[in-house]
Amino acid sequence: MLDRAQVEQVYARLSQAMPGRTKDAKGPKGQPDPFRSCISCMLSAQSLDSNTAKAAKALFALARTPEDMLALTGEQIAAAIKPCGLYNVKARNIRKFCEALLADHGGRVPATREGLLSLPGIGRKCADIVMSFAFGEDVIAVDTHVHRVCNRIGLTQAKTADKTAQQLEDRSPDWAMRDGHFWLIQFGKRICSARAPKCEQCPVSDLCEYFGDTRD
Ligand code: SF4
Repeated sequence: MLDRAQVEQVYARLSQAMPGRTKDAKGPKGQPDPFRSCISCMLSAQSLDSNTAKAAKALFALARTPEDMLALTGEQIAAAIKPCGLYNVKARNIRKFCEALLADHGGRVPATREGLLSLPGIGRKCADIVMSFAFGEDVIAVDTHVHRVCNRIGLTQAKTADKTAQQLEDRSPDWAMRDGHFWLIQFGKRICSARAPKCEQCPVSDLCEYFGDTRD
């Protein structure tokens, strides 16, 4: 695993090569709505971004609040979110999430990780995405791209995304917490992709522990 000086170097180079938190990342009208962020993240499990977007669009056309959502039957929710797969399970989770939100939080999404994690269907990744995107907190949310690149480079050494998230929080410098997610996710999409990483274009290849050996 990289030492602290090397971790600083990785972030410094990625900050030069990749875009950080942008206006687009917050959505065209500013911070995204926390309720919709939670639901979108629940829909995104094991789904391509394009299919998640289709499902979210169809669902939010029917319901935009927890009350509206609970006015729908599970079958209606499942039919709307079919494009993102696992629709029956996700529809059940969405209803449980809305019920808990209304019962325990007056229908308002809590703005703390602890509060978010207390809600059904919200794990560490979703909690951190909502904290970062909807509440503007300096949190590095770990999705599959971030998990992969962090463990290839040696920023972290973890088998699960949740453990990667904890190690990143412990090892990342404060100055990298605001934009770290955006640098890492863009790096994972553009350079250090899952199947064919472009190691010859990589700005951190001299630090990467898996340069030329991407068998994960
Ligand atoms: Fe990814 Fe290759 Fe760069 Fe390592 S050298 S971080 S595997 S692109």
